Amino acid sequence: MVICAVTNQKGGVGKTTTAVNLSAALAAMHHHVLLIDLDSQCNATVASGLVVGKNQTTLSEVFHNQADVNKAITKTMYGYHIIPSNHRLTATEMYLMNKPQKEFYLKRCLASLENQYHYIIIDCPPTLNVLTINALVAAHTAIIPVQCEYFALEGLAKLLKTIEALKSSLDTQIVIDGLLRTMYDGRNLLTRQVSEQLLKNFGNKVYQTVIPRNVRLAEAPSHGMPIVAYDKNCHGSCAYLALAAEIIRRWQTAGTAHSLLEGEQHA
Ligand code: ATP
Ligand code: MG
Repeated sequence: MVICAVTNQKGGVGKTTTAVNLSAALAAMHHHVLLIDLDSQCNATVASGLVVGKNQTTLSEVFHNQADVNKAITKTMYGYHIIPSNHRLTATEMYLMNKPQKEFYLKRCLASLENQYHYIIIDCPPTLNVLTINALVAAHTAIIPVQCEYFALEGLAKLLKTIEALKSSLDTQIVIDGLLRTMYDGRNLLTRQVSEQLLKNFGNKVYQTVIPRNVRLAEAPSHGMPIVAYDKNCHGSCAYLALAAEIIRRWQTAGTAHSLLEGEQHA
């Protein structure tokens, strides 16, 4: 079981689009996948075609010690399972603030799911709040979507430092799996320049697969569908299927050098 956090403190870079479509692509390849929506904006939940009802168990109840994590899991229509979120997650964030061992709640929950899934994908919020830290502590790997624009590299350096700091202070095992270029428009000079900088600084930490800017990817969430279901043959869909294949290859390569410092040495 690989637990993977899709994270970047920068907002609107394609975290949710990646978490949802990667989950759906992996499921389309017959893997057992659980998507966890860890953002109170609930974007991954809605993009998966779900609305959380009043009586539905969510991660909030699980964290408040009132429920088994299995009760918070729902099937989507697209082959993957999901722990959906709703606005209660904001209160849960406050609840966790003063708890001892507050960073380890998600890790403990997921330990009880051992072997039920091949992949657990966590959609993180765009802040480094206690929920994001829970994701980084629980995960084995991180996928960092990066939009190839001017401030991307600046934010990225900060994020990588944060993850390194967490690794030493909380003794987590998380490694950066890769940086994913999202909303890529090759006609734009700045996009190409930032992409070159990424490759120069981070080498093979950058996925070969590039996610193009594609209107179908932007439309799909409003229909509550991942792209493989909404428009299987569009460029966005092909890109996320290619990403899933590339990521599986990486995860199957045992002993892959995942060290973050490696990337920094390239810089
Ligand atoms: P937040 O930080 O708010 O959680 P996010 O990082 O999860 O945002 P998304 O919600 O995935 O980012 O994407 C931001 C917006 O860009 C959304 O409207 C989404 O539909 C759109 N978008 C994402 N990827 C693409 C793409 N490859 N092509 C076109 N539009 C995209
Ligand atoms: Mg999001």
